[in-house]
Amino acid sequence: MSSATTNTSHSTNTPRKRKRLLAPREEIPWFPTLDLLVCNGCADCIVYCKPGVFELDEKKGVKRPKVKITNPFKCLVLCTRCVPICTSGAIKLPNPKDFEHFVEEYEE
Ligand code: SF4
Ligand code: SF4
Repeated sequence: MSSATTNTSHSTNTPRKRKRLLAPREEIPWFPTLDLLVCNGCADCIVYCKPGVFELDEKKGVKRPKVKITNPFKCLVLCTRCVPICTSGAIKLPNPKDFEHFVEEYEE
């Protein structure tokens, strides 16, 4: 019996573009920094950042904690999605142009 559901043909699919890093992640200093004077602790960045770069900085006696960056190297190199969702303007990232040489795009 032949299988009608094999998944080996790519003739109608356009190749998927993927990215890979050209250096170990810990050697690429791409991650956000925070201006805690303007962070209001809304936590939108925690919800929005799927890799989990941010966490609430919970301290005893603080009613509305701010955030901290606990996993900087989980930040996806050249991602900038959290910057516009922070309406306080507390999140800063480096200039992407300075990091483009760390990322190579390839087709699957
Ligand atoms: S989105 Fe901005 S203001 Fe809200 S917790 Fe994150 S850094 Fe702070
Ligand atoms: S740039 Fe992307 S991966 Fe990095 S902290 Fe912001 S949302 Fe997360």
